[in-house]
Amino acid sequence: MPDGGPGRLEDWVAAAPGLDAPPEGSAAEVELRLYAELQDFLPADRRGGPVRRPHRPHQTVKDLIEAVGVPHSEVELVVVEGEVVDFSHRPAAGDRIAVYPAFRRLDLGPLPRLHPPWPEQPRFAADVHLGRLARLLRLLGFDVRWANDLDDDELAAVAEAEGRVVLTADRGLLKRNQVVHGVFVRPGDAVEQAVEVLRRLDLGGRLAPFTRCLVCGGELDEVPKAAVLDRLEPLTRRHHDRFRRCGGCDRIYWPGSHHERLAATVAEVRARLGGSPGGSGAGG
Ligand SMILES: [Zn+2]
Repeated sequence: MPDGGPGRLEDWVAAAPGLDAPPEGSAAEVELRLYAELQDFLPADRRGGPVRRPHRPHQTVKDLIEAVGVPHSEVELVVVEGEVVDFSHRPAAGDRIAVYPAFRRLDLGPLPRLHPPWPEQPRFAADVHLGRLARLLRLLGFDVRWANDLDDDELAAVAEAEGRVVLTADRGLLKRNQVVHGVFVRPGDAVEQAVEVLRRLDLGGRLAPFTRCLVCGGELDEVPKAAVLDRLEPLTRRHHDRFRRCGGCDRIYWPGSHHERLAATVAEVRARLGGSPGGSGAGG
């Protein structure tokens, strides 16, 4: 790294209480300090201060971080003794390690990143417990792979093969090397979870509500009424003129009785993201 290069973060480290003090006690330890929401991964009684771990020469930064419970996918920046490092770095005894979460709103400029860049228009693979979130993200227009019989091995394989962002509340799944991009989903209702995922990936401007099938995630295309007439119930045939068909499973959609409730959910997501709450009519 050239002199004065972008890799040094003394300012940050100096600003972090406790990190500018010389290491005390046993030299056979390393000290980790987890920032912001990464603290959530620690047991309640260990939050707030640095975490000391025995120094093991073979351990990489990734091993250490995951040993205290933080999946690597949640980490955006690791600074060891003022130097930005990657996950394969092996800390020395006495090293102080600062671990930072994803900063969506902070421009890290030319600093080396731990993960490949996030895809512009991410596609997701949600774990089996996140069916409601998967459905909501589909409602909002995102491509989400989810099935109630997809186990963690298959999910990780699909995510790797198709470049999908893994959504899960299972830290073990996120720790797998196969998982390049993942988001740890905290407990909450689906709207809360969706808002958190969209904020984290800065996707608030990319909503396309009512463009995907809620059941399989396939894209919906406008279809002339005449083409689906024989599949409609008499009341639907009488009261509706605009139809869309799923390219994945052939289901037919129209703005029927569920539409208002779904539109209200979309409006709630937009409002919480800080966008215009008036966007609920999309897809109508
Ligand atoms: Zn479908």
